[in-house]
Amino acid sequence: MPDTPLDEIRQRFDAQHQGSRAQPEVPLAVRRERLLRLDTLLREHAPVLAAAVQADFGVRSPRLTEVADFFLLRAQMAHTLKHLARWCRPRKVRTPLYLQPARAWLQRQPLGVVGIIAPWNYPVQLALAPAMGALAAGNRVLLKPSELTPHTSAKLADLVAQFFAPDEFCVVQGGAEVAAQVASLPLDHLVFTGSTAVGRRVALAAAANLTPTTLELGGKSPAIVDADCDLRQAALKLAHGKLLNAGQTCIAPDYLFVPHGSEAAFADAYRAAVARLFPYFEGNPDYASIITPRHLARLRELVQEARDMGADVQELAPVPGAPAPPAQSIGDGVARQMAPTLVFGATARMRLMQEEIFGPVLPVLGYGHVDEVVAHINAHPRPLSLYWFGRSDAVRDDVLARTVSGGVTVNDTLLHIAHERLPFGGVGDSGWGAYHGEAGFLRFCHEKPVLAQSRWSAGALLYPPYGARFDRVMGLLRRLM
Ligand code: NAD
Repeated sequence: MPDTPLDEIRQRFDAQHQGSRAQPEVPLAVRRERLLRLDTLLREHAPVLAAAVQADFGVRSPRLTEVADFFLLRAQMAHTLKHLARWCRPRKVRTPLYLQPARAWLQRQPLGVVGIIAPWNYPVQLALAPAMGALAAGNRVLLKPSELTPHTSAKLADLVAQFFAPDEFCVVQGGAEVAAQVASLPLDHLVFTGSTAVGRRVALAAAANLTPTTLELGGKSPAIVDADCDLRQAALKLAHGKLLNAGQTCIAPDYLFVPHGSEAAFADAYRAAVARLFPYFEGNPDYASIITPRHLARLRELVQEARDMGADVQELAPVPGAPAPPAQSIGDGVARQMAPTLVFGATARMRLMQEEIFGPVLPVLGYGHVDEVVAHINAHPRPLSLYWFGRSDAVRDDVLARTVSGGVTVNDTLLHIAHERLPFGGVGDSGWGAYHGEAGFLRFCHEKPVLAQSRWSAGALLYPPYGARFDRVMGLLRRLM
């Protein structure tokens, strides 16, 4: 699909902007009907979207897309439809005595036009989850999906055009130039999901228009294994979290702390876990390809540099006698299926410990006391996620109290993203603002405070000219507070 011409992007924005200003109020029935259209789009076209995702990756199981893209979207849709009427209602607010008998409430209004710039790793979920929240809150949506998933982005553009009028929801396509144009529009809100580096540029561009942003960024999410922990279970959950989509997950555990002396036991447990999940890698339809040769080359460079600088790099081997790759061709994606790799002895001088890995490579660091772990985490940018494995509530609470991360899953990985009542987002370098559930609905609303004065108001007693009456009333008010 060719890039959307820049003047066409502006025209589409203008149409949405005019629509949002002409109809600032969007009745519940209209919002619900838009969501139901999105629901139908997803239900009827999930297989073709999953096939498009597979074509973009080379190897990426439609079942992975089912669980990581569609299931999450369905859960969000069901939760949104169930609670939408309540979320839309104005919230009554108690009025302090000194303002009574006035009444007050918060009126939840659509912002207008919400722009969404999405990444490639879960290309349906990360494009449509913010769109769903924005539509629920009564907004228009202008979406720019990733140029690295051209089949999925084209299919999304095509389907959204079938199901929505362009002034309700439209998709524009292209790379950095088109994305930068979207970020420079005077949008009412912009959701950007992607790298921290590009997020900084997006925040700067949005600032020129005072466009509020939600930045869903990346970073190095640590995982911690406590000494008092079921290592076999922890290794299985870490292997799943790390290797889902071959590590190309924003909330994947990036690196791991294990107690000194348990490195070898962890390596054995991790190997056993990987053997169970992915007995072989090349040609395994469940094990995703790295998205492009460039991304694969970068990962190989990180690993080679670590090896050259003295780290112990252990590339995992397929289980002996694992099945041969399936007969049907799954394209050149097989060449981009990178074996899971453990790295021991990584140091701060290695890029592996400086950049978000975003691949199936797990550095494992030994620690003596949990204070060292906390100090390491606090000396680095705030992570998007943190994972802790252990049995002691006291140690867990201590780690959670002394670290700040976007979200946490305890004794598992990734799952906090799937809980619709938990806001999802980053903090510091991993982003700002959160969405999902009611938090997402509110993200895309203006909660307008309204105070309705009563005809019995005594406020005029404080009007000028100031004198004895003012002092008496003020004295009374001070006693009432
Ligand atoms: P990216 O930052 O390279 O690209 C993301 C989007 O930004 C793409 O659509 C791209 O076209 C657009 N873009 C590029 N240049 C731009 C510019 N100058 N202005 C505006 N937009 C521009 O990220 P990616 O490689 O697609 O995704 C991987 C990154 O995203 C990782 O860091 C990962 O952790 C992060 N991520 C975060 C979340 C989250 O929810 N926090 C989810 C998925 C991915």
